[in-house]
Amino acid sequence: MRFTELAEAYERLEATSKRLEMRAILVELIRPLRPPDLAHALFLSQGMLRPEYEGVELGVADSLARRAVAAAAGVDESTVGKRTKASGDLGTTASELLVAVHRLGPEEPLTVADATRELTRIAEAKGPGSQEAKVQILVDLLVRATPLEAKFLVRFVLGTLRVGVREMTILDALAEAFADGSKDARAKVEAAFNLSSDLGLVAGVLVERGVEGLASIELEIGRPIRPMLAEREPDLSSVLARMDGRAALEVKYDGLRVQAHVPRRGPVRLFSRRLEEISAQFPELTAELPLAIRDTPAIIEGECVPVDLDTGEILPFQEVSRRRGRKHDLARVQEEVPVCLFAFEVLLAGGTPVYGRSFPERRALLEGLLKPTERVRLAVQEVVHDVPAATRFFEEAVAAGGEGVMAKSLKEGSAYRAGARGYWWIKYKREYTVGLSDSIDGVVVGGFHGRGRRAGRFGAYLLAVYDPARDRFETFCKVGTGFDDAALAEMPQRLAPFETPARPPSVESGLTPDQWMRPGLVLEVRGAELTVSPIHRAAIGAVRAEAGLALRFPRFTGRIRDDKGPTEATTSAELLRMYRSQVRQASPKDPPTGPASP
Ligand code: ATP
Repeated sequence: MRFTELAEAYERLEATSKRLEMRAILVELIRPLRPPDLAHALFLSQGMLRPEYEGVELGVADSLARRAVAAAAGVDESTVGKRTKASGDLGTTASELLVAVHRLGPEEPLTVADATRELTRIAEAKGPGSQEAKVQILVDLLVRATPLEAKFLVRFVLGTLRVGVREMTILDALAEAFADGSKDARAKVEAAFNLSSDLGLVAGVLVERGVEGLASIELEIGRPIRPMLAEREPDLSSVLARMDGRAALEVKYDGLRVQAHVPRRGPVRLFSRRLEEISAQFPELTAELPLAIRDTPAIIEGECVPVDLDTGEILPFQEVSRRRGRKHDLARVQEEVPVCLFAFEVLLAGGTPVYGRSFPERRALLEGLLKPTERVRLAVQEVVHDVPAATRFFEEAVAAGGEGVMAKSLKEGSAYRAGARGYWWIKYKREYTVGLSDSIDGVVVGGFHGRGRRAGRFGAYLLAVYDPARDRFETFCKVGTGFDDAALAEMPQRLAPFETPARPPSVESGLTPDQWMRPGLVLEVRGAELTVSPIHRAAIGAVRAEAGLALRFPRFTGRIRDDKGPTEATTSAELLRMYRSQVRQASPKDPPTGPASP
């Protein structure tokens, strides 16, 4: 397949924000494709080269890309810089400058396979001289590319491809292009993806063996399964009612979710909630897990929390977050902030996939599989049948340093539902009991200039929740409180890659920030209550026509959710449920209808 065809499809995708149109464009694009082009095209459209969990990064900074564009177009870098200031995008500048160079047209058309191969070489260039090597490969690619191709190649290497194709839309398109597009086919495609986290693999099997062939995709060591997620309830009696009066309660540890892949031989691999590999951050866990697992290969899940190894006490989560991204002095940090994994799931036991078994069976397997060590322990659990017993367990869990409890259904059919949120697991946190709602994970979609001490920086951020049905980010608050000096200094740098001159098509807001941002960074916020708002767009129309939901008195908790991608933020439907449960709890004299913070 020629890269031009992909670039033309991108051009059309960029021009629409309607999910149905996007799907139609994608279907048309992928239907004629076969492996390996099919996988290449799917990954490239998401701005990736390989499945996300492989963590392939191009490592091309703005300055390198600018240099490559200048060399390919035969102009100096300052010209490229000036024109980019005007156009707002180096990709656009590249395509404009290369028009002149390509008067005669490229000799040998670039293919999708060529582009993938060369971009992979850029990603793989490491060590001394690698920056130069990256620039050179990019120059060679740009020289061969048409102006339109160059625009998207540059955006790809910078990570600013804005075609907005998300996994859910790709799954829709796959079911339509290579099966009958029915609900059943779509569900099977999604199930295979949830199990393998690899769209290229799913697409390849689908084309070659049809929908039924997808059943051949199994859980495998080294390939993370998408995590099962929990629903909420406002109190313990509702939790028990949902579970037919009987549930396994576990301590809800407040740390980082870790999926551990322990092979029979070879290195243990750890994946985060968003399936990034984090093995290097926790060498003490990768070393101890093989000793703690009786029958490998195994895949278990647990929560990684900081502990005081002398007393066994759980420490605040912030201690673990200090370890993220600190690759250099790990040895010292390991001593300062020791962590422990509290295992709560088993998905593969002694090579047998067990995610399809009921929860009581899996828990029994986990108890048999695990030989607890200092750093790998079992999540504390108790089966309860009534509210007093549940309340007592909850209080003990909180006293022991947990943030609440996770209730797990013991019913027939309580399989592990990869990638799904449902009432098989219900979280109930400490804050509910003191009248505050749960925290919300919002995606930054814009920044507002600061004043006073914050002059020259952003003083507040516009946050959105995600609506998976419409693939939209809908704003629910503007937050400027809760940022300490370190966070204020860190934020602009963290957000720079997402800045964009205009409102991204996937973002809906009644407010216009000083700087728009593509959905990327997720922040945890709390607030006083959720209210109906004419300004915000979250769950628009669900409570009142034309009005969305807003969070009053929002405050950043200090926790950047690096373990969540933008589509893993709180959803509009969750926000609506939080709003409704809050209405149920509030007294009739005090309905939550106060003014929303804009
Ligand atoms: P969500 O995962 O629901 O999107 P979140 O990542 O913000 O939300 P929480 O709302 O805190 O997380 O609740 C779910 C998380 O609780 C799990 O993803 C897991 O990391 C953590 N957790 C802690 N203890 C347990 C346990 N015993 N069983 C399952 N999950 C647990």
